[in-house]
Amino acid sequence: MSKKPTSQKKDAAHKAVFILKDKDELVKDKGSGVHHYGDSFICATDGSGHATPGNKSPLEILVDASEGFIPLWAKNQVLRWTFDELSVSYFKHPEALKNYVRELLGEALLHWGDAAPIRFSENADNSDFQIDLRQSDNCNAHGCVLASAFFPDSGRHQLVVYPKMFGLRRKEQVETMMHELGHVFGLRHFFAKISEAAWPAKIFGDHKPFSIMNYGSKSVLTHEDKRDLKELYEMAWRGDLIEINGTRIHFVTPFHAMGIT
Ligand SMILES: [Zn+2]
Repeated sequence: MSKKPTSQKKDAAHKAVFILKDKDELVKDKGSGVHHYGDSFICATDGSGHATPGNKSPLEILVDASEGFIPLWAKNQVLRWTFDELSVSYFKHPEALKNYVRELLGEALLHWGDAAPIRFSENADNSDFQIDLRQSDNCNAHGCVLASAFFPDSGRHQLVVYPKMFGLRRKEQVETMMHELGHVFGLRHFFAKISEAAWPAKIFGDHKPFSIMNYGSKSVLTHEDKRDLKELYEMAWRGDLIEINGTRIHFVTPFHAMGIT
């Protein structure tokens, strides 16, 4: 028995570990963490991928319930954020880049207006999330990930932005930030109820199909998006809404405020 076939077999076995899923498999895979955003791009915040939604369009806003409760920010909270300085250090003009991203974030927040349930403050002291500006793209058969964020939670998080996003038109860059902020406020992808069944989401409001949490050309911030988000938080903060379809609302405070409130 020669040693060669065994080592070849071993090599083949090792290589098999690195084989990527094809597009069909990815679409079916509830754990892939991808979502189409724009025509071929994806946002990777939601915990699962989804099948092509076709013409189905749920008429409600969706909030995250993947932990068995609906996490919403407690009232009067501030999210402290800062740049991941190491990520920025790879760029030739780090200060100009940071200013640009500050502008994008500011503009996106301005669009959400008083519907935003939490304030943002650039403060590196015990920050709640870092903006990580990646130096290389994250692409697969679907397209490229533009950005990813997080849901309301008392942990420390990252808002990741990939170079691909900066190649979009400026308006689309602001829309991408508005979309990611929607996640930070507790909103799931518009199609989560249909296609991301492994990660339970709950319905609130009476949404039109146009929504910033939708994708493609429908991914715009509407009056209804803002109205429903504002109403959701106001009702919850007043105590008039303690559960949605049997799932309890759970208020969370940012990492830096833990133990203070
Ligand atoms: Zn998203």
